Amino acid sequence: MHIKNTNIIHAKKSLGQNFLKSKTALLAMINAGEITSKDTVLEIGPGQGALTEKILETGAKVIAVEKDDRLIEFLNEKFASQTQNGQFTLIHGDILELDLSTIGLKTVDYKLIANIPYYITGLIFRKFLSGDIQPSKLVIMVQKEIADRIIARDNKESLLSLSVKAYGTAKKVMKVDKENFSPKPKVDSAILLINNISKDFFDKISEKDFFEVIKTGFAHKRKMLIANLKEKFGTTAQTSQNNLQKIFQDLKISEKARSEDLKLEDWKNLIKNLSI
Ligand code: SAM
Repeated sequence: MHIKNTNIIHAKKSLGQNFLKSKTALLAMINAGEITSKDTVLEIGPGQGALTEKILETGAKVIAVEKDDRLIEFLNEKFASQTQNGQFTLIHGDILELDLSTIGLKTVDYKLIANIPYYITGLIFRKFLSGDIQPSKLVIMVQKEIADRIIARDNKESLLSLSVKAYGTAKKVMKVDKENFSPKPKVDSAILLINNISKDFFDKISEKDFFEVIKTGFAHKRKMLIANLKEKFGTTAQTSQNNLQKIFQDLKISEKARSEDLKLEDWKNLIKNLSI
């Protein structure tokens, strides 16, 4: 029997299925991605195809990856004509396990749109920002608090905000209240846009050093940054305690600064001066 009625598919909690009902939010995701007929869009978790439908309406080519086998036949039927004319390709699988090179995607040659379960947000950032095949833009629905932390609404940076901003500019597009999803989740959401994605930030420093230093900097939140750095880097002759103080002075970073006070460029300058 073919599933014609979307209500027959009961949302699976284990796959974070909260389907987006708000047309305003769906269109805001499309607009944030500036999607046109020239684009190839990778959509993660098409679900019942609400967002997919809107992306297809722009004329863009869509490759959608859905893990839930119950939705595959439904989506194939819903988008049969677009599948036939080559505009839509559905992949049944787990996005976290998918090798992007096998589906013909090239770096910054596609846009990523995702309304995904929030427990994989971090893994999606890692795969698509620090991975080799980056999208040019990433539009993602995240928990509202995560969006606020990434854009550093309170002007305090975090490991998360720095790890994202090193790869692109982050913007909170709009808040999406929990009432706009079915079933209604426990938390409010927000649409986050990460634009101008590249690895240009890593022209003078390596990704490995960047993550090592910021993780060290944030290791003990209550300590001052210089104390955190001293623990790991202050033992070598090149980066002794005295040298750390001098580096901070030269870079005009207060010795009393905490990790959350430093901006992305401060970290870059710091890393360039540390012997790691
Ligand atoms: N995009 C739809 C919408 O906006 O209504 C559905 C969103 S729902 C929050 C998340 C979707 O991601 C579900 O369809 C779920 O089955 C799918 N999903 C969950 N984990 C996944 C994974 N690892 N890989 C691909 N799809 C996944």
